[in-house]
Amino acid sequence: MAAELDVDRLQAWVREFARTVADHRDELTELDSAIGDADHGTNMDRGLSAAVAALDAGPPADPAALLKQVGMTLVSKVGGASGPLYGTFFLRMAGAGGSGPWDPAAFATALRAGLDGVIARGKAEPGDKTMLDALAPACDALDAAVAAGEPFGTALAAAVDAGRRGRDATVPMQARKGRASYLGERSVGHQDPGATSTVLLLEAAASTLAVPQD
Ligand code: ADP
Ligand code: MG
Repeated sequence: MAAELDVDRLQAWVREFARTVADHRDELTELDSAIGDADHGTNMDRGLSAAVAALDAGPPADPAALLKQVGMTLVSKVGGASGPLYGTFFLRMAGAGGSGPWDPAAFATALRAGLDGVIARGKAEPGDKTMLDALAPACDALDAAVAAGEPFGTALAAAVDAGRRGRDATVPMQARKGRASYLGERSVGHQDPGATSTVLLLEAAASTLAVPQD
């Protein structure tokens, strides 16, 4: 039977993302100090801590309501590029997956809607040295694995692998969007902070969304 992604599992994903961003906060900020303004870790931690506090106050009824709340919180609590971009990502996911529990195909559809939202909002494309360089290949890998009928855990692992490769591929890129683009050629040789936090998002999905029999 296909995995059922109810509100509790998606809540676990958001909480795990918040936990691992807090764990990696200094690393994300360090990466942003090389090619930005040294706030990506603190930005993401502040927004996700607020999202978790809102969940603690009473989780929403279904996956769409949950992800909408997370997206609204990120948009309102995080300044800078990453708040509106991650906020849009979660809001678009919320709008795409349908109400009620999701199955893996609905999750893959929602993840791609989130990707499309980031593209629409930020006007970047893969190769610009942004979070898209991790998210876009992860969506491709997830779609392919789900379409091939892979177990959900296997599909999410493939998405993580693709995301990590995409993140690593940002190192030699020259930034064409966001603050890092102001550096021109001096942005080359550094890993993108947003692609790095996106891999944490994907890893959190892999460790929370699929149960062993999936
Ligand atoms: P800011 O750049 O405003 O300080 P953050 O430091 O929190 O915001 O986030 C920086 C990250 O945001 C970058 O590493 C990059 O991955 C992502 N980013 C910036 N601009 C864009 C964009 N236009 N589209 C997609 N992602 C972007
Ligand atoms: Mg920054």
